[in-house]
Formats: sequence, C-alpha cells, structure tokens
Amino acid sequence: MEENCIFCKIADGEIPSKTLYEDDMFRVILDINPASKGHALILTKKHFKNIYEMDNVTASEVFVLAKRMAKAMTEALGCNGFNIVQNNGEVAGQTVFHFHLHLIPRYTNDGIQLNMEGKEAKDYNLDDIQAIILQKMR
Ligand code: 5GP
Ligand code: ZN
Repeated sequence: MEENCIFCKIADGEIPSKTLYEDDMFRVILDINPASKGHALILTKKHFKNIYEMDNVTASEVFVLAKRMAKAMTEALGCNGFNIVQNNGEVAGQTVFHFHLHLIPRYTNDGIQLNMEGKEAKDYNLDDIQAIILQKMR
C-alpha cells in the first residue's frame, strides 16, 4: 500500500466504492466519472504505478478478469461493443498513478471518441522502428 494513493485505499476497502467484483488480487469498481454507462475500472490490490512495474502473474490475470468482466457486463448492460483501455504516464492520459484497466461498454451512436487517427509515417521509417524494438525483444 502506497501512502496517499487513492486507488490503494479504494482497492483495500478503506474508501468505499461501487464494487462489482473482488478477490485477493483485484477490485473492480464503477468509475466515478464514467465515459459511458457502466464504465468500470479493474484496480490491482498491490500498488503498481503502471504496467512497467507490474509482475507477470498480475499482468496475465488482469486480462483473464477483463475478459470475464466484459462478458458479464455486456450481458448485463446490453452494450454493443467494448473498449479496454489502460494509460501509462501523464502524456498517455494517466491521472491516477496506480495501475488500472478501463472497461468501457460501448453503445451504438454513443458519440464517445477514443479513436486514434492513423497518419503516414513520415519522420521515421517502419523498418528502423521494427529493428530497434526487435533488438530489445531478444
Ligand atoms: P486514468 O486517466 O488515470 O487512466 O483514469 C483514472 C480514472 O479514475 C478516471 O476515469 C476517473 O474518473 C477515475 N477516478 C478518479 N478518482 C476516482 C475515485 O475516487 N473513485 C472512482 N470510482 N473513480 C475515480
Ligand atoms: Zn496505490
């Protein structure tokens, strides 16, 4: 538990939340300012600032839970699609620095903008990008 971390306190139950699921590793809560009806967050119980700090077991289990939540929420809410989003770092839109996965139900014509506009790769070439990443994956 990290001092002054709101998601540590919520995950621990010290601060009440609209909890949808809880086990030893995770708590799933409704987002207080939902992007869509049913927008929820999977919080780890352990404090990880972001994905870079996370252990492999938690990293795999979080997606198993995301799949289970997505199925249950889709059946319950009757949504037409689903976004799973996870922000790391301020520049990427992270505002709470305790790992969380966004579960965002989507509805036909809901008008929510999460789309990234693709652009032509002009200032770099894809072969170079592939090469430098491949080196790190060895
Ligand atoms: P981020 O921008 O860090 O990826 O997402 C943080 C999310 O946490 C936002 O969607 C925000 O609405 C939500 N949030 C921030 N504080 C609280 C809180 O105290 N309770 C709940 N339930 N959600 C929160
Ligand atoms: Zn925390």
